[in-house]
Amino acid sequence: VSRFEGIPMAPPDPILGVSEAFRADTNEVKLNLGVGAYRTEDLQPYVLNVVKKAENLMLERGENKEYLPIEGLAAFNRATAELLLGADNPVLKQQRVATVQGLSGTGSLRLGAALIERYFPGAKVLISSPTWGNHKNIFNDAKVPWSEYRYYDPKTVGLDFEGMISDIKRVLGACKMCLIYAGSIVSYGWQHLKDLLCYFMDVLTTQLVLIQPLSSGRKLLTVIQKKNLIPFFDVAYQGFASGSLDEDASSVRLFVARGMEVLVAQSYSKNLGLYAERVGAMNVVSSSAEAAARVKSQLKRLARPMYSNPPVHGARIVANVVGDPTLFSEWKAEMEMMAGRIKNVRQQLYDSLRAKDKSGKDWSFILKQIGMFSYTGLSKTQSDNMTNKWHVYMTKDGRISLAGLSLAKCEYLAEAIIDSFH
Ligand code: PMP
Repeated sequence: VSRFEGIPMAPPDPILGVSEAFRADTNEVKLNLGVGAYRTEDLQPYVLNVVKKAENLMLERGENKEYLPIEGLAAFNRATAELLLGADNPVLKQQRVATVQGLSGTGSLRLGAALIERYFPGAKVLISSPTWGNHKNIFNDAKVPWSEYRYYDPKTVGLDFEGMISDIKRVLGACKMCLIYAGSIVSYGWQHLKDLLCYFMDVLTTQLVLIQPLSSGRKLLTVIQKKNLIPFFDVAYQGFASGSLDEDASSVRLFVARGMEVLVAQSYSKNLGLYAERVGAMNVVSSSAEAAARVKSQLKRLARPMYSNPPVHGARIVANVVGDPTLFSEWKAEMEMMAGRIKNVRQQLYDSLRAKDKSGKDWSFILKQIGMFSYTGLSKTQSDNMTNKWHVYMTKDGRISLAGLSLAKCEYLAEAIIDSFH
């Protein structure tokens, strides 16, 4: 009898489990719209040209495979913070940013969560509902309590603004120290961050009766500090929502420009297509260089027993692409191309739904959403029908990845969606 009798079988992962099921399906019409991975119009994986060029450069230079420092590749850390905040952001010159290379977005989030657990005991993280499913796992395993606020309204397949405000207020009222988890969640992505900023303003006007005009950044800062809120951003798709790196980082930059201290996890899985290289970063913007230095020392201390030091290959690719003006502009063009393809697919899906559906249902919510994903409004049973009858693999919350769809398959997908609704 095994010593491991007491270990039960774990359930499959809700997102990666979808890919496993997809691989097992032998029907040719099958579509994998579960995982958020970019595909070409032929539905093939895509390695960016700039990545191939950077890899060739690295090969020519004959770079070695020595260990990186715990905090990662210095050139990468500089590049990633500049990409996030803008190269001329004063907080960089003031050395107020602690940046540590992480194991892609997930590993960086996990490091941030470990920092919260160790230095903000009792802090609670507010997570939007729904969010990327792994957020909950990450905070659970890091032993950081969290609760959800309403965000998505299944009735409108859009934002539940009233619900969001009232839930956040309720939790804020009961918690001494809160982190707002401003995930770059699925379709709504960056819109969401702007909504959050509106929310802060709402808090100020309705709860704290702020006399100064809201445009007064200093006053805003004072009150936010009083409230002890720290926004935690998950920047997993920078460049993918609008096609522009700067535009997609504007919300984070807005918070930083207001003098707020923020946590930001970054990932290069999607925007550079470096999924398997596991390259990303954890950034903490502090109000002083001295605080940033202390935070960085503790991030390194947390990383050392977890994974010792991060992998070098992907970090060198990023540093080479961002550090070379020609490659950098080529990357921007490729990203625009990818974001553009997804936008075209979104439009085509909408057009196909409108053309095929005779019920008069309003499908405009599809066009109102942005980014790699879209909510369809399909329930769990309807999503099951999509998979079982139509071989369309997707998560059970009705979310589909438009990055895994082609123009040619939109009509088929529209048929499947309409059939599953009725
Ligand atoms: N955050 C969000 C919202 C995501 O969707 C993802 C990837 N699906 C990640 C973070 C992290 O991905 P990775 O660990 O590959 O960078």
